[in-house]
Amino acid sequence: MRFLADSMLGRLARWLRFAGVDCGYVRDRQEVPFLERASREDRIILTADRGLASRAGGRAGGSAGGSAYVVNATFHRDQLKEVMAHFNLRPAGPLTRCGECNAPLAQLHHAEAYGRVPLRVYESAMQFFACPECGRLYWSGSHTEAIARTLSEILRPPSQGDRDHTPT
Ligand SMILES: [Zn+2]
Repeated sequence: MRFLADSMLGRLARWLRFAGVDCGYVRDRQEVPFLERASREDRIILTADRGLASRAGGRAGGSAGGSAYVVNATFHRDQLKEVMAHFNLRPAGPLTRCGECNAPLAQLHHAEAYGRVPLRVYESAMQFFACPECGRLYWSGSHTEAIARTLSEILRPPSQGDRDHTPT
């Protein structure tokens, strides 16, 4: 399942990528190229704009695989939760896609990272990944742990507390 986020949803797009979800992003607000790209790449549009969604949805009807989804939440954490739940997506982990350009990351041999990251990072990180598009390096360590922790906080299933009526 692939997505295309509109210009208002840049943070959502980045967090979807951190969760391993394929989500393109269009910074430009021009509607026609946006709709054309979604159609060409067979992506579900994510937008907060109902007008845009209905114009996009006109192409494919309102089935479960409809071509646009209106995001209701306003804060990016809530948006992530909403989209992941609506499409029943499972996070694949923070080291699968580049947060900046959505390309799948490729794992590097440890030695290939030498000289491309601070020595302290080179010595402490277990794994390195590179984005084939922008060349950005990612590594397992405090940063990805923070992302993974945030993802698990955001996407944790609701606790049983509310519905747990133990008979007394
Ligand atoms: Zn990249």
